[in-house]
Amino acid sequence: MGDRLFYLTREFKFDSAHNLIRYHGKCEKLHGHTYRLAVTISGEKNDEDMIIDFSFVKKVVKRKVLDRLDHAYINDIITQPTAENISQWIYGELKDELSGANYKLHEITLWETENNYVKYKEKNV
Ligand SMILES: [Zn+2]
Repeated sequence: MGDRLFYLTREFKFDSAHNLIRYHGKCEKLHGHTYRLAVTISGEKNDEDMIIDFSFVKKVVKRKVLDRLDHAYINDIITQPTAENISQWIYGELKDELSGANYKLHEITLWETENNYVKYKEKNV
């Protein structure tokens, strides 16, 4: 890649229920969160002076993540649904489809509450 690198982010929200195993605290019992998700893509501008079309990002995230996690019991998909594990799972689901000639998935940010969030990205990417 050249020396002009852009970071493009689209945000989403979804409501899910979960409970944590091997954990004693607030998240031990079944409850829900309104998660906030930021999907960040890094890349260079294409012939249309864009990194990637925001609407394409929305379409992929809806199909791969929101349709499966929104109004769902996350434990059915991720055994221990900590914010760390959920963000890692989301990254894995999106990585291939949000990768193109001039862009790639950079980072997932997942807010479990207004004040608490986790960032996940793969090393050396
Ligand atoms: Zn919780």
